[in-house]
Amino acid sequence: MHFSELGLSEALQQVLARKGYEQATPIQQQAIPAVREGHDVLAAAQTGTGKTAAFTLPILDMLGAERAEAQRHPRALILTPTRELAAQVEDNIRTYGAGLALRSAVIFGGVSAVLHVVQQGNLSLSQVEVFVLDEADRMLDMGFIHDIRRVLKLLPNKRQNLMFSATYSREIEQLAHKFLVNPVQINVAPKNATADRVTQYVAHVEKARKRALLSWLISGGNWQQVLVFMRTKHGANRLTKQLIQDGLTAAAIHGNKSQGARTKALEGFKNGSVRVLVATDVAARGLDISRLPHVINYELPNVPEDYVHRIGRTGRAGESGAALSLVDREEREHLRGIQKLLGRDIPEADIDWDKAPAARAGEAADDVRPPRQSRGRPGGQKPSGGDRSGAPKRRRRRGGGSGNAGGGRPPSSGRR
Ligand code: AMP
Repeated sequence: MHFSELGLSEALQQVLARKGYEQATPIQQQAIPAVREGHDVLAAAQTGTGKTAAFTLPILDMLGAERAEAQRHPRALILTPTRELAAQVEDNIRTYGAGLALRSAVIFGGVSAVLHVVQQGNLSLSQVEVFVLDEADRMLDMGFIHDIRRVLKLLPNKRQNLMFSATYSREIEQLAHKFLVNPVQINVAPKNATADRVTQYVAHVEKARKRALLSWLISGGNWQQVLVFMRTKHGANRLTKQLIQDGLTAAAIHGNKSQGARTKALEGFKNGSVRVLVATDVAARGLDISRLPHVINYELPNVPEDYVHRIGRTGRAGESGAALSLVDREEREHLRGIQKLLGRDIPEADIDWDKAPAARAGEAADDVRPPRQSRGRPGGQKPSGGDRSGAPKRRRRRGGGSGNAGGGRPPSSGRR
């Protein structure tokens, strides 16, 4: 569906045309009319589906349509779980709203920072007409439920509410029940499904060899933009240092870094001067990097839903991408949990283990079935589809001579 069919103002349509957006994404097709008609909305949509525009466009459209006299107080309030996401939402608002007589501001530092401004008398939330809770599942995960309640108390009773969440849970439903009124429900991604465009792989490797394997894959595959997930800030710092020692440009992004350092790392990553961005889950939340081709789970997340969030960083808005998880023995249980959530097994990456600086941790892989067919190697040029890189396609096992050709036949089992 083209944007012109959604009834947005001429000014907004011009901005979209300038940005090169032609077709509205499924979430936009459903959410934009619902929001413009004044409904509350409950939407299940991951990052990468175009969800930010799905709420910012109709809000700008509604607020921009009225010639409001100079308003000091906000008419729309958007809560997001992280500062990066807040900054990005604001960035979208500035971009899309460039031709409108509307102003926006972003407040970092949690709900307490918002409440502080309110208590100082510099901000009133009594004029809010639209309230958006973005990435509500993550807000709950991060323990923001009380903060959400505190904000809700300051809002006028008569208002429009929109809630976006990548995943659904009982807690999300309870929260939705609490503040949404007869919401229009939109579900663009099947429950807890990962983006189809993301090719997912696992590589079984001992913990101590992960870093050597990663550096080798990045250099050998000539990967230029790689987002690597770590569980801890400390781990992110350490890996970043090691990758730099390996001759790669790398930067870490996590909660202990100052806003300036985070912005700098992100900018470097976007402009290509930083090849590898090493991030914790929280910090990576909401990062919007177009055409991000490679996501690496250096460590699997404890919570299977986080896996969905992580790999949602790639394959955004029509682009394809690859997500590779390096799985050591201790993480097999996590892998099982993730595969259960996905409802399918993640195939093994077609890595040339004879050449790799690490051995495939194969013996204990009996509980993780190998893929039915080889789907291109992560070291190749194209992350998805067939491997046309000219790289050898034999799936090799250390010590097990008979690899099989990349196409057709299922590879031999992971056991030796
Ligand atoms: P989001 O899901 O909001 O994080 O958006 C993901 C990316 O898709 C962002 O880089 C948007 O700028 C981009 N995007 C959103 N809507 C469209 C569209 N209709 N066509 C092309 N790109 C879009």
